[in-house]
Amino acid sequence: VSAFLRELAARQTDPANRRWLFVPYDQLNDAMGPLCREEPGTLLVETPWKGNRRPYHRQKLAMLLANQRHFALEQAERGVAVRLAVGKGPYREVLTRVVKELGPLRVMVPAERELRVDLEPLFERKQLELIPHEGWLTTAEDFAQSQNGPPWRMDAFYRHVRKRTGALMTNGKPLGGKFSFDVENRKGWKGQPPAPALPIFCPDAVTSEVLELIETHFADHPGQLKPDELPSTRADATALWEWAKAQCLPRFGPFEDAMSTRSRSLFHTRISALLNLHRLLPRQILDDVLAMTLPLASQEGFVRQVLGWREYLHHVHVETDGFRTLAPEASTPGDGGFEAWRGKAWKAPRAAFEPGGGAEPSALQAHAPVPPAYWGAPSGLHCLDTVIAELWQSGYGHHITRLMVLANLGTLLGLSPRALTDWFWAAYVDAYDWVVEPNVLAMGTFGTGGIATTKPYVAGAAYIDRMSDYCAGCAFDPQKNCPITRLYWAFLARHEAMLRANPRTGPAVLGLNRRSASERARDQVILAHVLERLQAGAVLSPEQLP
Ligand SMILES: Cc1cc2nc3c(=O)[nH]c(=O)nc-3n(C[C@H](O)[C@H](O)[C@H](O)COP(=O)(O)OP(=O)(O)OC[C@H]3O[C@@H](n4cnc5c(N)ncnc54)[C@H](O)[C@@H]3O)c2cc1C
Ligand code: SF4
Repeated sequence: VSAFLRELAARQTDPANRRWLFVPYDQLNDAMGPLCREEPGTLLVETPWKGNRRPYHRQKLAMLLANQRHFALEQAERGVAVRLAVGKGPYREVLTRVVKELGPLRVMVPAERELRVDLEPLFERKQLELIPHEGWLTTAEDFAQSQNGPPWRMDAFYRHVRKRTGALMTNGKPLGGKFSFDVENRKGWKGQPPAPALPIFCPDAVTSEVLELIETHFADHPGQLKPDELPSTRADATALWEWAKAQCLPRFGPFEDAMSTRSRSLFHTRISALLNLHRLLPRQILDDVLAMTLPLASQEGFVRQVLGWREYLHHVHVETDGFRTLAPEASTPGDGGFEAWRGKAWKAPRAAFEPGGGAEPSALQAHAPVPPAYWGAPSGLHCLDTVIAELWQSGYGHHITRLMVLANLGTLLGLSPRALTDWFWAAYVDAYDWVVEPNVLAMGTFGTGGIATTKPYVAGAAYIDRMSDYCAGCAFDPQKNCPITRLYWAFLARHEAMLRANPRTGPAVLGLNRRSASERARDQVILAHVLERLQAGAVLSPEQLP
């Protein structure tokens, strides 16, 4: 018998006369919903079905399962009856069996659309009652009241929720006289102040068992398991947040956009995976940060991420039905180029029920597949190779590496926004449809046009060099022969008319006027060369540039 099942059995309380609550994998907190005010029975489900739908990073699978198992034990420990339903197929199959025995269940509205769609037959048969999800900080009304769109804008949403909640407000005015201190938060990082050492987590018997299980049953999946970066118990979650408050938040703002080979996360908090599983509650995080004495630029910068961006993008996902209102849906989940990189078939076992693979908007008409470099094949671009190596080691990377290295290069190369989204979804420990789709389809690639963000976030080597130390270790020179700068110019030329009409990007396009015809032609040649080499899994070098 497994250590987990033994521990669970040892803690079980009488399950009779309980009203059962289905707790999905990402609602693992007893300070919200029925668990904080009743004594319901808690139903948890284990099935490899979801894990097999995409080539998820092994660390992500371990993070989810280890946290769910520890949550089960913690609930049993405090006297809550816990029932574990195990199956192989989709959640609908497992739950249909369970309701025959336990009767109708309740569930807080799942954050993931994929799970909502999976559970639909049970909602229709009234076997599963939907109750509000109490983990969000804002409501659909907040979104509706703050917007005239589409297009929608995060700034308007953020100002509205700041005013409505009173967060960082004084006498109806924003603290410090403005809503955003973004312009103060763009410092590069040269090694000072020192970045905090990462917190270390020690797997117990239950987590170790999960790690073994993932190694055995998901051996085909990419990514390394990193036990010391795997918070899994409630105490681990608290320790991570205490570390973030003490070590990261006081300097969060100024270095928010910096990147470095010497620190993977700089002053970022690394809480997203636990926040998205609700091991940490957004409400608790926000209240703690508002109660702290912090430099205002850091405090506001962090509040904007959690109360602003995270909530706003979730509303956009709900409002567009995961962007299906904009574009048709792929029939099956994409693998983000995994199979092509691996060179042999990677096939998830097909279940009777398969929800589709997500919307495929591509406002910039970008359709190229994700090249092997994103899966770990060396590219010769030191910025890309550094971020990718770190990612496959742990499943984590901070915002600017995602936006200004990975998504930037993807956009410049014309990668399909859907394919890149599937790649992000598989690669990152914190990726779930409601958060990864808006971040990649809308913010990262501008695949949805201007519906939710103002402009494509693209840059050449000058930006990467200014904000990181990657270029110092690169065979290319950011001022002379870096192909990313050529790709940037080629992108501006490709979308000149659209960018010229956008007040946020118009000035950048003016530079094209000063670019000679021969330089423009060379930009295209380099773009074709880079695309061809990267798609072939080959390394780029200055000597081989055409
Ligand atoms: C292309 C791209 C893909 C992304 N994919 C994901 C994803 O799959 N899952 C995910 O949680 N975040 C995603 N993000 C947002 C952001 O990069 C991560 O939330 C952040 O890097 C997590 O690290 P952290 O906890 O150290 O964040 P910190 O920098 O410490 O920020 C604190 C918290 O703010 C929230 N936050 C900040 N920005 C965003 C945002 N744009 N969207 C949602 N929440 C935000 C997160 O919960 C984060 O934990 C993506 C961003 C980009 C540009
Ligand atoms: S020189 Fe170019 S490819 Fe090399 S690290 Fe800098 S931006 Fe990246």
